[in-house]
Amino acid sequence: MKNKNDLNIFYESLPEFDQHNSVVFVYDKKTKLRGYIAFHRGGFDIPSFGATRFLEYDDEVDAIKDVLRLSKLMSYKNILAGLPYGGAKAVLIKPKGNYKRNLLFSEYARHIEKLNGSFITGTDVGVGLKDLRLMLKKTKNMVGVINNPEKATAMGVIYSMESVAKHFNGTDKIDGMSFSIQGVGKVGKEILSIIYNKASKIYIAETDLTRLKMIKKKYPKVIMVNPKKIHRQKVDIFCPCALSNVLDSKSINQIKAKAVVGSANNQLKSIEVGETLYRLGILYCPDYVVNAGGLIAVTDEYKNPKPDKSRLEKSLKGIGKRMDKILYLSKKMN
Ligand code: NAD
Repeated sequence: MKNKNDLNIFYESLPEFDQHNSVVFVYDKKTKLRGYIAFHRGGFDIPSFGATRFLEYDDEVDAIKDVLRLSKLMSYKNILAGLPYGGAKAVLIKPKGNYKRNLLFSEYARHIEKLNGSFITGTDVGVGLKDLRLMLKKTKNMVGVINNPEKATAMGVIYSMESVAKHFNGTDKIDGMSFSIQGVGKVGKEILSIIYNKASKIYIAETDLTRLKMIKKKYPKVIMVNPKKIHRQKVDIFCPCALSNVLDSKSINQIKAKAVVGSANNQLKSIEVGETLYRLGILYCPDYVVNAGGLIAVTDEYKNPKPDKSRLEKSLKGIGKRMDKILYLSKKMN
């Protein structure tokens, strides 16, 4: 921000701002906690759900834009999954220097508790189960400890891929298809484990070299490619499972996949990019439909005192059914 006086009109002036209900600044000097919780919809009469992201940002404004866009996406995700909750999201800015992770997350949990159940959160990029367990000591408004959100997200991606297979080939079998996965973190790794023995070919890209090595050891048949080239592979399905904005005006002209089906949030940099993808004949499955599995799993945990595998599986299968309908309507209505 150039001028401090801009602060009062700042949010409203951002294109990412969509009449959000509120944005909470979470800050603690001692632990180096610094971040934002955005409530897009809900938070008053109904709780708002959205996971917490912990990431380095070059610019504070980038973090604010990210939290505004991601929280809006959570509202879409809730609505399309038929869930009666609002959309929210938290973005914590990873400190550049030294910091104590446990203290930072513990302090963040105190801020969540203060929100009195209006914000329910869990793990997103950069946050793990260990952090979640630690935060549970300070707040009960954490989900994703009983039902595994990453596995559920991966299942939703697989059901969406099956829907795409049906759309192309008339059968929902993904066996023999080829894939490229961008990011083999919590969700990408789960997807890989499911498709590994079915796929004809799997390309992967990962910026964390230690993780990449581990994955290659466990899944020797995968082909590793430079992260800059993963979207250019000639495959049936490109599966983005890393960060936002992977589909921009430049990258979409390099995509050789027939379809894009992945877990990453906000894959399209803009609506225009989505329209161009359509004109290019690349089938794009909306991220907020495909990756709703995590949200479905954690809201199931929130609502029900007892976990029930078959109840959860039935809800997750709904993602495939919604994809079938969307693809049918897309074809019919051009
Ligand atoms: P994660 O941090 O565990 O995994 C992301 C991986 O991508 C990391 O291993 C990271 O090193 C890698 N990466 C980052 N930039 C990359 C690049 N340019 N090229 C290749 N690899 C890169 O996060 P996650 O929980 O697996 O989430 C992945 C995506 O799915 C995110 O966009 C997240 O918001 C979304 N999502 C996650 C869940 C969930 O349940 N965790 C649910 C819905 C959506």
